[in-house]
Amino acid sequence: MLKEVQHKSHFMGSFPCGTDLLEGLTGICEKENITLGRVEAIGAVQKACFGYYNQKSREYQFTEKNFEMEILKCSGNISLNDGKPMVHAHIILADEKGTAFGGHLAKGTVVFACEFIIQSFGGAEFIREFDDSTSLRLWK
Ligand code: ZN
Repeated sequence: MLKEVQHKSHFMGSFPCGTDLLEGLTGICEKENITLGRVEAIGAVQKACFGYYNQKSREYQFTEKNFEMEILKCSGNISLNDGKPMVHAHIILADEKGTAFGGHLAKGTVVFACEFIIQSFGGAEFIREFDDSTSLRLWK
């Protein structure tokens, strides 16, 4: 599927130490009524939780890292799921040696310092619905 979208506005900000990254991003979308857009963030986290979607079992496997890391890149999109804005983001993190890893951003990723940009789009609606071929909630 493909739809043209129009740029509406940009938001730039930072999260205080201790913010859950996914909840923080989702909270801004709810507060500012952003239902379509893109998001990116950099900074550092105190700990992280990210997912890997097992295509055979069709379940997310979550990895927790309970140490301090850099956010090399976190990027994703915003669309509607069950009538609410949902942030779907992936994150690449690095440990103190610069070794990188990451996955599907999950609740439990706690900010040490984080600067983000959210771009809001209009002109189209992207709604997530269950997809039989993947068992994921994808855009229809
Ligand atoms: Zn994902």
